[in-house]
Amino acid sequence: MARRASTSSRRTPASRTTKPLHPHYCSVRPSTPRALGPGVSADRASAINSLSNKWVNGTELTYYFFDKPSDGENVTYADGSVRFVRWSGPESQKVAMRQAFTAWADLGLGVRFKEVGSRDQAMIRIGFMSGDGSWSYVGRDILDQASDQRTMNIGWSLANDIDTGIHEIGHTLGFQHEHQNPFAGIVWDEEKVYAALAGPPNNWPRQKTHFNIIRKLDVSSVQGTEWDRDSVMHYPFEAGLIKAPELYQTQPMQPAGGLSARDATYAKQLYPGQGPVNSFPELTLMESRRLTIAPGAQVDLRLLPTRSRAYEIRTLGAADTVIVLFEDVNGELKYRGGDDDSGEDRNAYLALRMSRGHKYVLRIRLYYADHAGETAVLWW
Ligand SMILES: [Zn+2]
Repeated sequence: MARRASTSSRRTPASRTTKPLHPHYCSVRPSTPRALGPGVSADRASAINSLSNKWVNGTELTYYFFDKPSDGENVTYADGSVRFVRWSGPESQKVAMRQAFTAWADLGLGVRFKEVGSRDQAMIRIGFMSGDGSWSYVGRDILDQASDQRTMNIGWSLANDIDTGIHEIGHTLGFQHEHQNPFAGIVWDEEKVYAALAGPPNNWPRQKTHFNIIRKLDVSSVQGTEWDRDSVMHYPFEAGLIKAPELYQTQPMQPAGGLSARDATYAKQLYPGQGPVNSFPELTLMESRRLTIAPGAQVDLRLLPTRSRAYEIRTLGAADTVIVLFEDVNGELKYRGGDDDSGEDRNAYLALRMSRGHKYVLRIRLYYADHAGETAVLWW
């Protein structure tokens, strides 16, 4: 996202044409490609891609700011000198990031955010390393990073640019760049884009510019079929970098700022707000429950073991699902285990110990089912 010159949420038309843009851009971390076998049909692959990296709804995403003097890394400069650059940042940067989390939370999503004081408990680990740009891994890819590593970096001041924080959290929620939406129909003046990004403040090589701007996303991996030019996931662009739509030849492309109406709609579709855990239906032991949900939808069930022992949970039928088990600990849902069988010829399966009198929540998100209604879940 761009460093913004003003905190106002909307720019006036006058400022769109008079202010030259020299934006800092986010450089999202590449996703681990899901290897799907040759037997996976195009429909099925598309359904898997559309949800891959997304969180199971109801997940509590914990975040942490690096805070120790030893947190950081050695950077080799052009003159050959090596300097240690810290990841920790000033309190003002943390305050801005907390506001950015609140911007998403205020939508009333089913995913929630909680700051924690320990990196070992955190899923999102945030650094403020200057010179390293702003970036995040996309969605569940953050879980693949070691607990002493960042999943997100904010490389410049958020003082007048909280949108960069909101944008990076958008990546963590599984959203990608809107200007790479294949439905946007943007035609780039590619050489001009490469040249603009090769200069300061980004100084990007062509490959990075291609990955973050020119490259079109796979149709199945984007929400909706329309271009949202006000999305917080959209970069601004100076006039002349976009050939079509033609108006951006002569005027800059500048999103309105903050979360757009469509950002809010898509986030709520993917992560709808949920009622209290006690309102979830109970799945009794040895009962197989048919999953009558559409692809992309999710079921939340309560499991109430009456004995402490090892249990097994699995889905049945030809479907691609992700299942996640949480334990209700004083009203907080703690992650206990998960499995994702998408694209594989097997069923999602968990084997773990549960305790008598404790309450558990099993969440099942369906990617794809060969035959609607012929999928079920069972625990024993
Ligand atoms: Zn980005």
